[in-house]
Parts: sequence; structure tokens; C-alpha cells
Amino acid sequence: MLVNTRLNAGEAQSGVSLSEAILDPAAAHGGLYAPDTLPRLDDEFFAWAAGASYADIALAIFAKFKFDVSEEEFRAALSRYESFDTDPVEIHKFDENVYINELWHGPTRAFKDMALQPFGALVDGFAAKNGKKYLVMCATSGDTGPATLETFKGAKNVRVVCLYPIGATSAVQRLQMVTADAPNLAVIGVKGNFDDAQKALKTLLNDADFRAALAAKNLHLSAANSVNIGRILFQVIYHVYACVKINANREPLNIIVPSGNFGDALGAYYARKMGANIATIGIASNANNTLTQLIREGRYDLRGRALTPTISPAMDILVSSNIERLLFDLFGAVRTKELMERLANERHYELSADELAKIQEIFYADFCTDSECEIAIKFAAAKGKLVDPHTATCFKMIKRGVTNVLTSTAQWVKFTPSMIKAIKGRACEDEEREMNALASEFGVSVPSQIAALFDAKQAQNLNAEVSELKDKILELIK
Ligand SMILES: *Cc1c(COP(=O)(O)O)cnc(C)c1O
Repeated sequence: MLVNTRLNAGEAQSGVSLSEAILDPAAAHGGLYAPDTLPRLDDEFFAWAAGASYADIALAIFAKFKFDVSEEEFRAALSRYESFDTDPVEIHKFDENVYINELWHGPTRAFKDMALQPFGALVDGFAAKNGKKYLVMCATSGDTGPATLETFKGAKNVRVVCLYPIGATSAVQRLQMVTADAPNLAVIGVKGNFDDAQKALKTLLNDADFRAALAAKNLHLSAANSVNIGRILFQVIYHVYACVKINANREPLNIIVPSGNFGDALGAYYARKMGANIATIGIASNANNTLTQLIREGRYDLRGRALTPTISPAMDILVSSNIERLLFDLFGAVRTKELMERLANERHYELSADELAKIQEIFYADFCTDSECEIAIKFAAAKGKLVDPHTATCFKMIKRGVTNVLTSTAQWVKFTPSMIKAIKGRACEDEEREMNALASEFGVSVPSQIAALFDAKQAQNLNAEVSELKDKILELIK
């Protein structure tokens, strides 16, 4: 059962099923849907999981939740992983006490595929079952957009509108979106930053007129952002999987996660609470370090802050949506509502000392400037490993005396200019050529779908101001 993260004092929870929460994430009365309880994974599970496949581990975990989704439906969704070039993640030993959990072996080369591939199959399947058509919207800081477009490409019951901030994504990320070519896909460049695009999305999801206009076209509205709990569930699995495969003796690990909207890190938190051998979770940020401040000082403070563009654009986020689910799990729905409303109205909130202590039992945080990030890329390259600028933010947070798992969220090929600057100390002259050269130098290959982007035809060319979005989208679906 999934419940709402925000309640008034004295109000009782009325839960919804997983399929309802996935199809209508905005029905949570301004809050988000979150699990009311998390199942416990016992010794027997862990003993079995050490020898089990990724898909079987996922199915066993989902079964414990008792969702309204059958094993067959989950199995069909997880079969999307069969197209990944690994099974579906790859764990590398980097150093004596450092592993890298590579989550980007799916079609769009970012970890977003880990959740969005099976999520897309579930949504299209639910829609077919209930005979409805959906408009799935997403706002992207760079990787959610391509992954959402890819998962729904050609879907029969789903149309997609993807909003991206113009100029704020990498060139490859932009190409992945504007070359997406299928009759059910639309991409709109938004004049603004990611927070503007995400806020516009949240406003539209809650706009009664907009929903009514869609309903008149027989379209129901849903969202593919990590406000959708259907994504988070799939993100619990890879953390459990890494724990089981890296240390079958279940010695406690330190998981480090490059964070933006906190979906990936929330997956690690849920995995820990369910019994995975995770001692601590490191939250890595870039210069947009609201999470560093929250976890170190107990303050979420947006006053006087402006979003700073960095070389890790998928983490260029100040308003981190999934923190709400952490607050709910630790402090309950009444307190969560109070804090989230304070953030909306006063642009800041403070946790009590007790609350902060609870967070710090589990989490620690730090951030990287772009130059620190470049140093980390160069450090990894000197050891023969190409890591992208998001993954690179984790290195600074490696702890001594424990086994660390760095969560690798994207493949470097999406960020060649930053890689060249970090490793060669000069500007990139020709992205396509230098990507291939770097790949040969390190003995790795450029995935064919990335190589093909440079010659692909641009299929999407809409741009809009935030204020024009509603009309433009209604025009699109006419
Ligand atoms: C989305 C993304 C992140 C941030 O993940 P959250 O779940 O939003 O915290 C980090 N790195 C990359 C490459 C991403 O695409």
C-alpha cells in the first residue's frame, strides 16, 4: 500500500495501490506517494540472493511488497533489461576498498534506464489493461528525457511530452532528445533552468483546466519524473544487488550516490531499511549543494540561491523532490507537510537537533566544485578508468576502513568535452572525433546509438517560455 507524504494533524491515511500511484502520481494532495511500510529482507533471502540473478532478486523483493501487480507483469517489465549490454548492471573493483556500480548499460547510457525501461513497460501494460490512453510528461535535467522518450518510443497507449531546459544539458543529451522520432513523442525546449521546468511540470500536473482539456481528448495525465514512486522501486533493487554481490558475508558497506532529485539515494535508503548491508550513504553534490547543507546542518535553504550550471548537469537541482519521502519515512506525514509548506512559503526550513541526528546516523554529505570534479576524472583516468562527471563527484567521499560502492550514474560518452578538459587539460575541438579517440586510447567502445546521433535527423524543434507551455502542449495533442 502507498500513502501520501503530507497530512494534517488528526487526518487519517487512505492508501492507494501501486498501479494507481504510478498512473496518477499527482493525486497525493500536493505530496508524494510513499510506501507505508517496507518489507524486511531476512537471512534466508540474503543467503539465496547471493547466487540469484538480478531479475529474480527484483521479483523476490517486489513479491514481499504485495503490490497489485502480478509476477507476470513484473517479469515482463524486467525483461526490458535483456537489451542492456550487461546483466543489467556491472560492478567493477576499482581499488582495494572501492567498487564502482555501473548502472548505465541501458539504451540511453544513464542510470535512468534502470527504472524507466521497466517502468515504461508497466505503464503501457496498465493502460492497455484499463483501456485508457495516457499523456506521460517529464521534465529533465538531461538524462530523464532521453530515457523517457526511449522507453515509450512507439508505445500504443502512451504519448510523451518531454520538457528540457535549453542550453543546460550536454550536446549528446540534447541530440538524444531532438532526434527522438516517433509519432507519440514530443520534446519542448524550455527557456529557463531545470528547476523552472520541473516546477512547470508540477503546476501542470495539478492544473484542473489542463487535466479537463486532456480528458476531453480521452487522455489521462501521468508523470515519469522520480516524483513517480514506480521509478523508485526499481532503484531499490540495484543497491540490494550490489550489497549482495560485493559482500555476501553482509559486512556493512558505504554507498556513495551522486545526487540531484535524491531518487537514487532514496533507493539506497529503502534498501538499507529493508535490511541490506549498508552502513552509511554518502550524498555527493556539485556546486548546487542544498543537500550538503541539509545533511550537515539540518537546514534546507533556498534564500538567495540561484542554480549554478556545472559539468554535472543532471545534478543541477536545488529543489530535491525525493527528500520529501525521506522526511516522511523518518518524521511522519504531519511534520513533512509542515516542512514542505515552509519551504514553499518561506523558502527555507530547519530540522530540530533530534531530527538532524537521525539523518546523520545514516547519511553524510559533501560537494565537488567543477575543478575538484575534473581532478577526480583525471585521477580515475590515470588508473585506466573513464568516469563521467557525475560519478566523479563520489571520489572525494571515499571512506577509509570500509568497503565503498560508488554509484556510477552515466557513461562518459555523454560528456566528452568535460572529459577532454579534465584529462587533456584543453578544450574539445570536435566532439565526435575526440569521443572516438578517447575510447580507443582507453580500449573501450562508443555505443552504436551514441555514435549514430551525430548524423541523425532532428525530429523535434519546439521551444517555449514557461508561460506558453500549457497552450503549446494542448496544441500538440489536438
Ligand atoms: C539523474 C542523475 C543523477 C541524479 O539522480 P537523482 O536520483 O535525481 O538524485 C545523477 N547523475 C546522473 C548522470 C543522472 O542522470
